[in-house]
Amino acid sequence: MFRQLSQAGAKLANLVLPHQCVVCRNFAESTGLCARCWRGLSAIAAPVCRRCGLPLGHTLSEPICASCFTAPPPLAAIRAALHYNDSSRKLILAFKHGDALQLTPFLSALIARDFTALCTSEPLVVPVPLHGRRYLKRRYNQSAELARQLCRTTGAGQFAPAVLTRRRATESQGGLSRHQRRRNLAGAFAVPEAERRGLAGRQVILVDDVMTTGATLFEAARCLARSGSGDVSALVLARVVRPREA
Ligand SMILES: [Zn+2]
Ligand SMILES: [Zn+2]
Repeated sequence: MFRQLSQAGAKLANLVLPHQCVVCRNFAESTGLCARCWRGLSAIAAPVCRRCGLPLGHTLSEPICASCFTAPPPLAAIRAALHYNDSSRKLILAFKHGDALQLTPFLSALIARDFTALCTSEPLVVPVPLHGRRYLKRRYNQSAELARQLCRTTGAGQFAPAVLTRRRATESQGGLSRHQRRRNLAGAFAVPEAERRGLAGRQVILVDDVMTTGATLFEAARCLARSGSGDVSALVLARVVRPREA
């Protein structure tokens, strides 16, 4: 009820007040972002590796990077719209912690084209779940809002937020080695028994806001595969691209 009231209030405020940029509070277009913050965003431009989605330094006829050629990730494809930089970090933080739900259409539009390209069959579209405690604190899962909006606007995929659950909170991944990260995340996700039948053989597209090392998405993909899914791909708003990979 409070939420409905505050949403109605926000709508009313939009009619009488000029828009404020959700990042810097200056005047903004109706997207929620001002021109300067918009310019700070950096798109991940083609050509990218068709598997991991990282920028390729070449345009060979086979668009696959050396590391996917030798040791492919446990995801059929990974796509991201933006480089994770200062601007995209602030934008996503606003979306995540500031209850800036009005950003949902704008942000989902950034990844909509990649989303439809990833939909090879009628996929289940699964947001990466937050742990219960974090969900209670924030009241909404920003990845679920993105996933829901993508299905709604493109007419593709089936929004399936119950397929993956977070079994336990994981410690922060910062400063851990690759091996430690994997161990830290082992068993972090589960597919409820009731969801398994619908998952069998189905393509899954995981949706999240940020990808740093990929450890969380990889673990989610392994859990889905163990539970009988078909190909699992991942779609995120922004990802860390290290200079050696660019
Ligand atoms: Zn701004
Ligand atoms: Zn690759």
